[in-house]
Order: sequence, then structure tokens, then C-alpha cells
Amino acid sequence: MTGNNSKEPMSREWNYFPELPLPNTSIFRWPPDPGFLARWIVRNWLTLSERVMMVILAVALWVFAYPSLATAKSFSFSWIAQTWAINMGLTIAVAGGLHWYFYMQRGQARRLKFDRRDQAKNNRLWKFSDQVRDNLFWSLTSGVGQITAFQVVTMWLMANGYAPTLSFAQNPVWFVLALILLPIWSAFHFYWVHRLLHVPFFYRHFHSLHHRNVNIGPWSGLAMHPVEHFIYLTSLMIHWIVPTHPIHLFFHVIYQGPGAAMTHTGYEDLLIRDKRRLKLGTFYHQLHHRFYECNYGNQEMPWDRWFGTFHDGTAEGTDATKERRKRMYQ
Ligand SMILES: [Zn+2]
Ligand SMILES: [Zn+2]
Repeated sequence: MTGNNSKEPMSREWNYFPELPLPNTSIFRWPPDPGFLARWIVRNWLTLSERVMMVILAVALWVFAYPSLATAKSFSFSWIAQTWAINMGLTIAVAGGLHWYFYMQRGQARRLKFDRRDQAKNNRLWKFSDQVRDNLFWSLTSGVGQITAFQVVTMWLMANGYAPTLSFAQNPVWFVLALILLPIWSAFHFYWVHRLLHVPFFYRHFHSLHHRNVNIGPWSGLAMHPVEHFIYLTSLMIHWIVPTHPIHLFFHVIYQGPGAAMTHTGYEDLLIRDKRRLKLGTFYHQLHHRFYECNYGNQEMPWDRWFGTFHDGTAEGTDATKERRKRMYQ
């Protein structure tokens, strides 16, 4: 049974939604289920998943594109500009490519698209009265700029031995484990800074900018207030204290930067010849953009369930979320 004909009221609100209530896909589910964990590893790390593609890209960029640590020993315009240009190109390629495919080319029409609407035009809510241009503006100015700043400072710290580094040869087990743990760290960090951003003061001044995107598109992912960019990107400071390799740093940069476009396409998956080939967004985060005070984290991490902020997609979830919002703004 597909979600689309299982819950009548929901199908009035959404063009598409998965089967509800959303299942508990957390890898911290208790008691641990070895079969489930094995499938999680296979799905995320032993197939051409978005994470594996990001690691491949990180390695390629480390070999061919980003400046070496030897170059990063002292700050100079040329390698910082080079890093910025690569990040700019990457963000435009990923967010722009997804936007082109889904919203200009209509490559998938509305199949697996959550919201019925398209991105807003002629609305003064947005800079330039245009949601996409507004999102582009915040992503490519402060977004790419601050990602680059965090990255070059981290490279400089690594190059000078102020931040601990390691190589594959020194510790292959930790090298691989760190790749698996980084998205989990990122999700943990994101949950807490995201809750902070929903404290009414922070929400009103900073995070509301991202949340004008009730109906999201690829360019919405990095469309944030500069203060939010800064808070969001502090995730990268883990490399200042935990030993990692530049490949880990670059993977993390891709995950936080262009990766945000992949989780905000407005579609659940990329279909190729009617097969779901790539996960591109979750109903979980789409619910956050529609109802605000729920699902601050992501589905495979347990934080929302543990701290009572989980919306499972049902009408009861919506009621509980509206109650929470009311209490927060009393
Ligand atoms: Zn979002
Ligand atoms: Zn939010």
C-alpha cells in the first residue's frame, strides 16, 4: 500500500508522502538489530549512495583540485581564492544541477514531489521578489564564503600542526570509521544548534530566513542568515580537535555545503527509468519546513524521538507540533 491512498486528509495537504506513520529508522534503535544495522551499512556505504559519492568527490578534489596542506601553511590570496572558486563551482553544480533537472527541465514532473506548489515568484517576502534568486543570493554569498573560511582556517591549522591529522597508513581503521561517524556527528551537532535556532529570539532574528522556504527547492538548503551559516558550520570545528585527514575535512565540507541542496530538493528520490536511484530529501525534514517545531534532526538519528520533538507525519503529530509551537510563543 502506498502512502498516497492510505490517509485521506494527508493527501489533501501533500502531492506525495511516504507510508505513515514514518518508521523508526534510527541506527540507535533499542535493542540493536544486527540485520537492520547491516542493511544500513550496505545502503549507505557499500552502494553508490550519496555519502559514497561525496567521499569519491572529496578524494578527487583532494588529489586534483584543492590546494595541498603544504600550500596552506601560510595564508595567501591565491590558494584561498582557489578554494573559494572550487566551492562556488561545486555549489552551483549541485544545487544548480538539481534545480535545473527538477524545476526547469521538469525531469520527473511531480513524481515523488512532496509539495504541490513550485517556488514563489513576484512575492515581496523574498529578496528580488523571487524565492530562487533570494535562495541563490544567500547560498552563494555568505554560504560559500563562510564554508570556505571554515575550510581554509582548518587547512591552515592542519598544515601547521595546530590541529591533529592522520593518514590512512597510520590508522586505516580510524580513517574509515571517521568517514562513517562524520555524518552522525554532523546530525548530532545539527540537532542541537537547530534547537537553539528555534529559540524564539534566534528564530525571529536569524533562522526565520531559512524558514520562509515552506515549500523547499535545492537552493533552499544553504539559504540561511549569515549568523545561522556560522552556527551551522561550527560542525567543521570537530577537525580542530579530533585527528582527521584533509579528505575527511573535504567530505565534511561537501556534506554541509552542496549536500544541503540534496536534502532540500522537495522530492524524495531521484527516479531513473522509474527506479529510485538516489535519496534526495526526506518527508521528515519537509514536515519541519511545514510545521516548524518538530523534526529538528534527521530520521536515522534518535534525537527527536528521545527528546519528544518527533512528528511521524500523522494528524496527531501535527496537533502535538502546533501545541508545542503555541507553548513556545506564549
Ligand atoms: Zn531546511
Ligand atoms: Zn528550523
